[in-house]
Amino acid sequence: MAEEDRAWLTGQDLPTVGRSLDELVHDVRVRMLPYPMGNGHPRFFGWVNSPPSPAGVLVASMAAALNPSCAGGEHAGALLEYAVVRWLADLAGYPHAAGGGLLTSRASMATIIGLASARQRAARQDGWDAREEGLCGQPPMVMYMSAEGHSCLRKAAELLGLGARHVRVVPVDGRFRMDVDALRALIAQDAKARLRPFCVAASAGTVNTGAVDPLEEIADVAADRGLWFHVDGAYGALGVLADGAAAAYAGIERADSLALDPHKWLGVPVDCGCVLLRAWATMSYLGRDGIVRLVNQTVRLAHALAAMIEAADDFELLAPVTTSIVAFRYRLGNRDGRVDDLNRAIPAAVQQRGRAFLTGTRIGGMEALRACFLNPATTTEDLSILLNETRMAAAEIAA
Ligand SMILES: *Cc1c(COP(=O)(O)O)cnc(C)c1O
Repeated sequence: MAEEDRAWLTGQDLPTVGRSLDELVHDVRVRMLPYPMGNGHPRFFGWVNSPPSPAGVLVASMAAALNPSCAGGEHAGALLEYAVVRWLADLAGYPHAAGGGLLTSRASMATIIGLASARQRAARQDGWDAREEGLCGQPPMVMYMSAEGHSCLRKAAELLGLGARHVRVVPVDGRFRMDVDALRALIAQDAKARLRPFCVAASAGTVNTGAVDPLEEIADVAADRGLWFHVDGAYGALGVLADGAAAAYAGIERADSLALDPHKWLGVPVDCGCVLLRAWATMSYLGRDGIVRLVNQTVRLAHALAAMIEAADDFELLAPVTTSIVAFRYRLGNRDGRVDDLNRAIPAAVQQRGRAFLTGTRIGGMEALRACFLNPATTTEDLSILLNETRMAAAEIAA
């Protein structure tokens, strides 16, 4: 980025006198459009960031023109929310009661709402009211998430006053799925210590490896122990639409709450204002067939990359592919033979080379690379480029 533009973007003064729309458009064209995050490119595989959707681009400005609050009333935005929530429930295979859902700014907010509902139900079961009385003087409520669960679960627990020390981290099995026996043991231990187990938060698609927890078994544990069953499907719930994937998601329909993120796999524009209309436009533009095609196409790309990795001597796969995320690593070390150090440095070096974008994470105590497929424009040629870019980046670092 040009130093002058960086300085302007971060340091510009608030103008005393307002500027014209022409000037604003000029600034956007000259100072902002040249510097996108890069997530529109077919070789952007970082985090879980989808490319822009044509329908989103087109309708976002109209939505901004309407600019409604959807608290109530009879206007387009408030009414469209009913349809979009019903569509999402239907796609995720979740039973839908009319009005039983909300569009939120993002999955983190959906998680807070889910866990707040869990907290209140537990309090009511115990004869008190958490919303009215607060948590003071009550036995601590304990939540269970897996070691691969998203950080928004812990943050929600903290914000809801449950206390980070009452979030239990359940270990995962060899496929990075919640270990249900360990879950049972932790719940029993907490109940014995006179704490109040109240919620288990499972994942339908973790961000590190795309793993889907054994939802049916976790639903059984929740039912046995009277726990709220929350499912974080922010990234992965729509993976259920891939051919042959349904069995892995059995039990999701038993969730008490399910967090979804239309700005992930569906590619609905990210941000909060008027997400309603935009969610509608993108989904309507794709249609059910288009959504299923998108999910299948991106899941196939993930499997193709996994196959290439398994066939290569210098890469290894770190987790089975369940959704559209591939977790892997470069097997050769740096000059001192340090594989972890090299893998930690690879994502930035690949990004710096500018031909592909992937991010890193830690999996099973190891530095890992991960690629997430969300862009329908990605081709198998892009996969070879990604692996070659990774090799070149590794060679640069080693030199
Ligand atoms: C992205 C994501 C979240 C958090 O969603 P935001 O929309 O960023 O708040 C939670 N869980 C998973 C699995 C995610 O992929």
